[in-house]
Amino acid sequence: MKYEVVPAPICPACGASHTIVQEARDLIFNYRGQTLVVPAVQGEYCTTCGEVFFGETPNEGERYAQAITAFTRKVHIEHD
Ligand SMILES: [Zn+2]
Repeated sequence: MKYEVVPAPICPACGASHTIVQEARDLIFNYRGQTLVVPAVQGEYCTTCGEVFFGETPNEGERYAQAITAFTRKVHIEHD
């Protein structure tokens, strides 16, 4: 798997240093007992706390946010 260490090495979430890697991961989002998988989301991932950031890939952050919005809306429609 290809990845590189991002130049700014401090994780904004947990403060660990040199734990951020840039790569694509399948992100799993659970909501009301249902699961959404957003495939191959490119971002900076902290290997310590697992948080993801989209500083270098804002379009991917947008794609992920829109996928979650659409998913929660769909779950609401199915349940309500
Ligand atoms: Zn972290």
